[in-house]
Amino acid sequence: GLVDSEGPTIFDKIISKEIPANVIYEDDKCLAFRDINPQAPVHFLVIPKVRDGLTRLSRAHEGHKEILGHLLYTAQKVAKDEGLGEGFRVAINDGPGGCQSVYHLHLHVIGGRQLTWPPG
Ligand code: 5GP
Repeated sequence: GLVDSEGPTIFDKIISKEIPANVIYEDDKCLAFRDINPQAPVHFLVIPKVRDGLTRLSRAHEGHKEILGHLLYTAQKVAKDEGLGEGFRVAINDGPGGCQSVYHLHLHVIGGRQLTWPPG
């Protein structure tokens, strides 16, 4: 993806159902779907349906606190539904230094195998 692009991303087409995704949870504010290039037996993304300037986490402002909480809450709820009761990881890559490739905020949820730390 483009570095810190303000333009539309592939996730807009997933939200609008223009391109298919394996959606595992949806409500009025967010969407969770399986990552196309999974890094573990379970790997899904949780995204806000409206980007509202959240190209990346570091663009967050006071008015984003509610959606940020909702995304994190949803991540753990769907993780449990996915059978990740033994544990899992929630990650957000921010910017070029954080290996972000899609500039629409997303939480990675990874699990289903023993994870290691640090991630590298
Ligand atoms: P980032 O590197 O920005 O933190 O993560 C972007 C993630 O989106 C990557 O893990 C990548 O595999 C995933 N991804 C990119 N394009 C698509 C797509 O079209 N469909 C799905 N399901 N995942 C995608």
